[in-house]
Amino acid sequence: MEIAKRVQSIPPYIFLELNKKVQAVAAKGIDVINLGRGDPDQNTPDHIVQAMQEAVADPVNHHYPPYGGTPEYKQAAVEWMKKRYKVDLNPHSEVTSLIGGKEGLHNTIMSFVDVGDYNIIPDPAFPVYQTSTILAGGTPYFMPLNPGNNFLPNLEAIPQAVLDKSKMLMLNYPHNPTAAVADLAFFEKVVHFCKKNNLLFCHDLAYPEMTFDGFKAPSALEIPGAKDITLELHTLSKTFNMTGWRIGFAVGNMQAVQAVAQLKSNIDTDVFRAIQVAAIAAMKGSLDHINYCNNLYAQRRDLVVDSLNKLGWQIKPTKGTFYLWLKIPSGYNSWDFTYMLLEKTGVLVTPGTAYGPSGEGFVRLSLCLPEKRLKEAMDRMKEHSITFDLAKAKV
Ligand SMILES: *Cc1c(COP(=O)(O)O)cnc(C)c1O
Repeated sequence: MEIAKRVQSIPPYIFLELNKKVQAVAAKGIDVINLGRGDPDQNTPDHIVQAMQEAVADPVNHHYPPYGGTPEYKQAAVEWMKKRYKVDLNPHSEVTSLIGGKEGLHNTIMSFVDVGDYNIIPDPAFPVYQTSTILAGGTPYFMPLNPGNNFLPNLEAIPQAVLDKSKMLMLNYPHNPTAAVADLAFFEKVVHFCKKNNLLFCHDLAYPEMTFDGFKAPSALEIPGAKDITLELHTLSKTFNMTGWRIGFAVGNMQAVQAVAQLKSNIDTDVFRAIQVAAIAAMKGSLDHINYCNNLYAQRRDLVVDSLNKLGWQIKPTKGTFYLWLKIPSGYNSWDFTYMLLEKTGVLVTPGTAYGPSGEGFVRLSLCLPEKRLKEAMDRMKEHSITFDLAKAKV
């Protein structure tokens, strides 16, 4: 037996090693507080679950769904885009269903990266950007995001030779893992840049509703003319606490939408119709849970930011996502720090390098646990003097 080079070429799944460590620590009887996962802890709202329960019982939904989403689902997605962003889209040609954002990212990359191409991606980023680029036979070109540039890429720094061999540039704001946000003025620059350089702009809009302190995340499609070159990926996972349900949609440029839909129609057979019915109920129903969850996340954020800053960390409150991107004490790399923290306190974060080379010197902490558990994590860090000026020698 010989495994294809394609599989051998992708980096080993970094969280596997982390899991082994967690098990070893848990085996010692230490209660692990997992601040590593980005998965909403609140339930899917009842009216969505109810819509699903009814749809499951209806035999109409037991058959193969149509490719690209049911007409009703596509219509609901288009209406969502209109209501939320004032963006006009054609429900027949400018939207296609996705089995979640992750699948959409992979198939968009497969649709726009040829063997030998670069794919211009943020660093750090959701790991799929990098691995699917490699699977496509391409090479990731990393745009470093760091505190010095407010975690926004410097487009002018991309070499012409890279631009010449690229078909796509990817971004994601509000951003996982740095929690940075971007405004319309920034997206206008990106759209202009991508037009000038004949690139598809793929915007992974996974956290548009998870924002705080009055910030409202824009869609890149709000920029006039953006549709000429933009494909935006939406997912219900984070907005509706539906990570397990696997549903999203891609909207924007017709050619790009159709390319992804064509590829997908050869690979998967779309989303279970009952899930599409539930997703319609989500987009058309009450959005009260969004405010409720954002208040929870903002309170948790304040608790963690205040507690860590009392220990000498220098963390600024975030405007979006349920992540905090923490610059770690000097003398540690992100893996060393993650292991040290886990072994001493039982608190699990993820090492920044899991998201790209510029993640070195950072860890990501997520706010997906109740305040009580977060407080416990903070108390343990205090108890073990995990201060920011903690030098390696002192530990
Ligand atoms: C969670 C997430 C996604 C997609 O999640 P799905 O559950 O696959 O829809 C995509 N991009 C980023 C940056 C994410 O954090």
